[in-house]
Amino acid sequence: KLYNQVQDLKGNIRVYCRVRPFLGGKLNRLSTVDHIEEGKITIITPSKYGKEGRKSFNFNKVFGPSASQEEVFADMQPLVRSVLDGYNVCIFAYGQTGSGKTYTMSGPEELTEESLGVNYRALSDLFYLSELRKDTFCYDVSVQMIEIYNEQVRDLLVMDGLNKRLGIHNSSQKGINVPDANIVPVSSTSDVINLMNLGQTNRAVSSTAMNDRSSRSHSCLTVHVQGRDLTSGTILRGCMHLVDLAGSERVNKSEVTGDRLKEAQHINRSLSALGDVVSSLAQKNAHVPYRNSKLTQLLQDSLGGQAKTLMFVHISPEHEAIGETISTLKFAERVS
Ligand code: ADP
Ligand code: MG
Repeated sequence: KLYNQVQDLKGNIRVYCRVRPFLGGKLNRLSTVDHIEEGKITIITPSKYGKEGRKSFNFNKVFGPSASQEEVFADMQPLVRSVLDGYNVCIFAYGQTGSGKTYTMSGPEELTEESLGVNYRALSDLFYLSELRKDTFCYDVSVQMIEIYNEQVRDLLVMDGLNKRLGIHNSSQKGINVPDANIVPVSSTSDVINLMNLGQTNRAVSSTAMNDRSSRSHSCLTVHVQGRDLTSGTILRGCMHLVDLAGSERVNKSEVTGDRLKEAQHINRSLSALGDVVSSLAQKNAHVPYRNSKLTQLLQDSLGGQAKTLMFVHISPEHEAIGETISTLKFAERVS
């Protein structure tokens, strides 16, 4: 409740940043991150003119390399919980390939209890809270999982491995939806684990054919919640989209051609369309350009209005990544 009041005062868009640790136990390497304090990150910019510079960016929250999955989720929990009160929520993981988007949303490949990502924690928290409220509310929770690759929408919750192209529909009753994507009722965390494994398998199947497609497609886990007030009979509907975006790195046009170039252009265009939508919402512009990409069309009902958005940007600490790190932080600054 208090959180919603605070949110309403601040607007419905928040921006978080997470810095991943160095990988493979490389502890003593120098990071491009100079320091982090509360919502501020200061990075070391390259020495173009012989002298290193410092540049700071301010966000709602910044997590350093030692932040645990539990700590990260704790700062997202109020947002997740507002779905049970009928809010629509979008959480985006943005960043270059390798910066930790999938780690935040799903966890690492070898999952442990501590390393479980936001997707699992969010659903498990919704089950926990709906159980607590069971004397006053009856909740139904169901999920869809789709992928957007080259501006085509595909279902990840299919059994036959054939994820055919799907259309986005707009109906007065259901709003914007993907009617042909499977929608699966879930009631326990083990249901969720099974579905996530299925979605992961379907993504992996396409990736062997197309060489790490997962970093070049957006994946979106949508959680639909319907709550019935047991005394008044009032129905509340909320939904939450948990989106692991395609890698934000710019490809060098002189280095890629053909299909790779087409993919890269689709990604560039859809990420900048998302940036345009979120920044025009942040600036409270009258016109919001939803129609410029499949992703923003699909999420239109959950971006803007009463809906709550979290743009969660990820950066890598390595010096080689500084160019992408700066462009990620600038993207984040533009939408906040
Ligand atoms: P992305 O999805 O952005 O391409 P990944 O989530 O796959 O990046 O992360 C790249 C690698 O770094 C993976 O091996 C992942 O397990 C690891 N990693 C990412 N973030 C963290 C973190 N916060 N702590 C430990 N390992 C991490
Ligand atoms: Mg990934």
